[in-house]
Amino acid sequence: MRIAALAGGIGGSRFIRGLLAHLASTHPDGSGGTTAEVTVIGNTGDDIWVHGLRVCPDLDTVMYTLGGGISAERGWGREGETFTAKAELASYGVEPTWFGLGDKDIATHLVRTASLAAGYSLSEVTAALCTRWQPGVQLLPMSDDRAETHVVVDDPNGAMDDSGRPLQIAIHFQEWWIRYRATLPAHSFAIIGIETATPAPGVLEAITNADLIIFPPSNPVVSIGTILAVPGIADAIRSAAAPVIGVSPIVGGAPVRGMADACLRAIGVETSAAAVATHYGARTNGGFIDTWLVDEEDAGIVEVVSDLGISCRAIPLLMTDVAATARMAAECLQAVNS
Ligand code: GDP
Ligand code: CA
Repeated sequence: MRIAALAGGIGGSRFIRGLLAHLASTHPDGSGGTTAEVTVIGNTGDDIWVHGLRVCPDLDTVMYTLGGGISAERGWGREGETFTAKAELASYGVEPTWFGLGDKDIATHLVRTASLAAGYSLSEVTAALCTRWQPGVQLLPMSDDRAETHVVVDDPNGAMDDSGRPLQIAIHFQEWWIRYRATLPAHSFAIIGIETATPAPGVLEAITNADLIIFPPSNPVVSIGTILAVPGIADAIRSAAAPVIGVSPIVGGAPVRGMADACLRAIGVETSAAAVATHYGARTNGGFIDTWLVDEEDAGIVEVVSDLGISCRAIPLLMTDVAATARMAAECLQAVNS
């Protein structure tokens, strides 16, 4: 079985870790190996240059999580990390001081930056980094082209435009998310470079040749939404032969973790599992999903979602540990088979 999954950082990678655990536990020869090939299409809209280093936060979160190197407590960056270089850079007064650049993590960014400078593509560099981490999936960036998410906000320094209204400026997604904790109201998102970006090698093939396509509980706007914005990817999902199943990142009207509500608000979508399903839409109606899994707490919306032409089930959706997440993944496979 070939599975293609779109993924952001923490929500996406934790789900895929559970999926791999489930696949390993059901392998016919009990060897812990897997009969499924999983391709993860990672969001690179969060990518940023920091102190001359090319940082790909979501690709690294997937790589470290599946490769066993992620900080269990933080959910991003390396276990046993130190931040000496970050403190030294701050002592020089150079910005950005708000980005969490760990010492071990810097090695990854150095390898990536040097390889990109030598002329390798982001896909090639990602594959090379994965030879160390052995994530158990094929990890592909959504695109090798630079396409970075920016957020249009009122100037945080209070500048006004000519007509005396707050001046609107676009800041990098990471600045909005980390420095301002998504508290500056977002007018809109702009993915700089997306119009001319093309899917990375293997991305469209993974979608077209898949037996199952999964939208894990990743941010619908700045993770899944960004991947779908790469020209060609949305059409490939709409016309794929495989069923598409989505897992809600919204439970009981709130994100389980992070500030996805601030992102949804910016695009005029209510923070509820039903509204996110409506936003994705039924594939039978020009949308992206066939099946939608919501948490048991949201069992009341199953009918509303079903009425959209999306088959919907309520199951426990909290990824409290790998075993619980593996059960979620098992439900995913079962929902598609039934
Ligand atoms: P990011 O790039 O690190 O923000 O990660 P993703 O975009 O992949 O995932 C973020 C989303 O994961 C958030 O909107 C969370 O609500 C969701 N999430 C995190 N933990 C859980 C969980 O245990 N269950 C569910 N259903 N969603 C979760
Ligand atoms: Ca992200």
